[in-house]
Amino acid sequence: MNIGIIGAGQLGRMLALAGYPLGLRFVFLDQSEEAPGAQVGRMVRGAFDDAASLHKLAAEVDIVTFDVENVPVDAVRDIAATKPFLPPPDALGASQDRYDEKSLFRKLRIPTAPFAAVDSRSDLEGAAARIGLPGVLKTRRLGYDGRGQYVLRTHHDLDIAWEQLGSVPLIYEGFIDFSREVSIIGVRSTRGEIRSYPLAANSHSAGILRHSIAPYRNAKLQRQAETYLRRLLRRFDYAGVLTIEFFVRGGQLIANEMAPRVHNSGHWTIEGALTSQFENHLRAILGLPLGSTEAIGHAAMLNFIGTMPRLQEVLKIPGVHYHSYGKEPRANRKLGHATLVAASAAARDRALKQLLRACRR
Ligand code: AMP
Repeated sequence: MNIGIIGAGQLGRMLALAGYPLGLRFVFLDQSEEAPGAQVGRMVRGAFDDAASLHKLAAEVDIVTFDVENVPVDAVRDIAATKPFLPPPDALGASQDRYDEKSLFRKLRIPTAPFAAVDSRSDLEGAAARIGLPGVLKTRRLGYDGRGQYVLRTHHDLDIAWEQLGSVPLIYEGFIDFSREVSIIGVRSTRGEIRSYPLAANSHSAGILRHSIAPYRNAKLQRQAETYLRRLLRRFDYAGVLTIEFFVRGGQLIANEMAPRVHNSGHWTIEGALTSQFENHLRAILGLPLGSTEAIGHAAMLNFIGTMPRLQEVLKIPGVHYHSYGKEPRANRKLGHATLVAASAAARDRALKQLLRACRR
């Protein structure tokens, strides 16, 4: 069975690495021969929005999936008419626009921050007056890892934020004074089987995920997150992995965004769960039985951003697993990650401190 993956980033690479033991083969579509996936699979070179390249990929494989979200939905619908394309194009489309995404959450009774579309300077004035300050102004499309957003604290910030972002459609959101950020990763197969992983607690800085701890045990939040997840999975007749990121405030979940794909906050599942998010994504889109999503112990995942720590230093830490994506170092670039799995939360936290020290060296 040949799987086509649009995007040869680290997510695609880890999908392929999880799929080889199942006897699967992989072809990636990406512009760069240096992309992480290029080292582990065959490449079709081309842009994600180039219809001819997308068709070339589709012609070579039995089923198409993706590791990036900025694939034009119209181009993808063409492919979906001829080849299985999963997760469904509608879910991809909904995740590409923050306003549409939050409107969908609202329709499905999934709580969100208050939000408003902003297409003009006066819309921004109105939104800030109605929703209040502080707030976050974000581009509706193509924002990731904190790019394309501005936190507004005073009225004076409106001018600066508008100057920086005002050339494209925007969304203004109320600022959520959260106690923590968590995410749920769920998976639904083409046969309708659904499973979800335990929540992960995520630490971001400058909009980029730094580390995750999982399982984050909180029975009430887990139930809430699974309920919201199932609403989205059913809505799209979904197949594959779906992630929702939440803020926690006052013991309640507030959804920030969804990703119709495997997710950075689920990398811990490679060694920390009985079946990884990558393997379960493949099982799901192929209609195979899903694997158990149970955690094996207490896991932490730390991203390597901008520079890679020394392998020798990291491997000294008990229970550590090192993942390099084979990328050239560059500021703010995710180059790899490490996962720790320990028998207790206390041992995991001790090892995480050691790992953070090794990354500072
Ligand atoms: P996003 O690009 O929407 O995932 O945002 C990146 C990060 O910025 C989030 O993980 C939060 O840490 C922060 N952030 C985004 N939106 C809000 C908000 N409405 N209130 C508070 N923090 C936010």
